[in-house]
Amino acid sequence: LWLSVYGFTPDNTLFANATCRDEINTRSVQIFADHWGEDFKLAGLGGYPSAGLTGFLAYAHHMPDAGNLFILYGSHVGVSAEGVLGRVQRSGMAHESGSCGALLSLLDKLTRTPRYTVKEDPLDAEQNTLEKALLASAADVLGAQDPLLTLTERAFDVIDDVLRRIIERAAMTCPVALLGGITFNTPGSFDDCFVPYRAEVLNAGGQAGRRESGLSELTSA
Ligand SMILES: [Zn+2]
Repeated sequence: LWLSVYGFTPDNTLFANATCRDEINTRSVQIFADHWGEDFKLAGLGGYPSAGLTGFLAYAHHMPDAGNLFILYGSHVGVSAEGVLGRVQRSGMAHESGSCGALLSLLDKLTRTPRYTVKEDPLDAEQNTLEKALLASAADVLGAQDPLLTLTERAFDVIDDVLRRIIERAAMTCPVALLGGITFNTPGSFDDCFVPYRAEVLNAGGQAGRRESGLSELTSA
């Protein structure tokens, strides 16, 4: 509904997502992919746009002629049946497990070693990149009332910033719709809850993008 106002249709729009590769997010992303027809994957662990400029340019080059780009992105966190953040019961598992595992891993390292620094490991490139981008927020996170919630918000900020810098560097002139937020993964058969932080169309009609925010109905766009 939101994007149809801007002339976006499944035929003229190529969808992509920059959300954590955790399979728990598949169901939410698939709702968008089913509607828009395709799904280019821009992100790795934590939702960090690790496909980078090269990946984004590949995505952009696959766009329909005179078309549009639409990117769903952001961080995620589990919520248990008891309301505990970071834990969620996945289908087929009797016990709860962590979500987002990448952020929980970083939080664990920061809690044990407040001056934790990232050691580069070619076998762990995605986690290294995500952690390096979030280390600047370590003090804020550790001092927060709910460290995981704050880390999840900082992760959104990082993903939002990196994605927008990539788009700027790619010098896109076509309309680019951005729908960013935090996904709360819920147990069992409950639908995940997506809280939008940014809903914006860049280059809409050749004009500078206009910003709307806090519109929860956008998730049905
Ligand atoms: Zn994750």
